[in-house]
Amino acid sequence: MVNKTDFTQLSRFVTYAQKRFALPLLAGCLADARAQPDIPSRAVGLSLVLGEVVHIPSLLQLQAETKLPQWQRWVGYPQEISHDTFGYASARMDPVQLRRAGIWICRKLKRGKAFEESKTHGLLAVSLDANEQFCSDHRCCEDCLSREVICKDAQGQEVKKTQYYHKQVYAQLSGPRLSVMLDVEPMRLGEEECAAALRLLRRMRQTYGPRFFDLVVVDSWYTNGPFLKTVAQELGWPVVAVLKQERYDIYQEALALTGGSLQKAAPLLGLSYRTIRYLIGKYDLNQVRKAEKRNGNGDRNPF
Ligand SMILES: [Zn+2]
Repeated sequence: MVNKTDFTQLSRFVTYAQKRFALPLLAGCLADARAQPDIPSRAVGLSLVLGEVVHIPSLLQLQAETKLPQWQRWVGYPQEISHDTFGYASARMDPVQLRRAGIWICRKLKRGKAFEESKTHGLLAVSLDANEQFCSDHRCCEDCLSREVICKDAQGQEVKKTQYYHKQVYAQLSGPRLSVMLDVEPMRLGEEECAAALRLLRRMRQTYGPRFFDLVVVDSWYTNGPFLKTVAQELGWPVVAVLKQERYDIYQEALALTGGSLQKAAPLLGLSYRTIRYLIGKYDLNQVRKAEKRNGNGDRNPF
């Protein structure tokens, strides 16, 4: 069961969400494709959202929470909801509708200046990263990705087997107090992370517009292939790539292209020199220092 502190916080969350985000109206986006459902989609969807807010780890435990009279008042349904119903209904929810609700919330947050604290030198950066879920050796669905892995059998012999999993690219605004997921895109069979990331950014440019955030932050993985060029030139967002030790070459290449000067590189990226120094410093200062030392381009005037 949810402990007392969580319960009080949940109660405050519901009041706040009802007032600021029209929670009952928003719950309309949680509709699922069950034909003639006994339990309204809204109650199922709201229970799933509230369960997420207090980190309820399983649908079975969520079922137990729905026995509480207070919970039943929050979600507007006077009975227990079974874990089967949660599973069945959530498999039939429409991702387009859920995404629409997410965009609506994020826009409202932006208008309410909720992302001001997340800005770096006045710029709002969205970070892209991929995460994997639902790994299985036995079960798969038509959207599963797969890979061959080598493991040991009961006799200690190495055997090859196929593993199935799902992987998504997430676009997140991170801040000291508030981190928000703007959108998410599943990777398709046979494609690279960068391809899903580009699909995600292209959609976000349409749904959020080009000025919702100012730049894109990615890890060194995305510096392969045409990703950087496409985002900067086609979509018009500057990219900050967080380079790992083994990717000095990229940084050095950028320096070489601009005659070894970050100051010259800055206008090419559409950012001020000061901001670039700050961003690089924030993410990978030691690497930059080492690379500059090797290039004989020690910067004596940081900012
Ligand atoms: Zn699957």
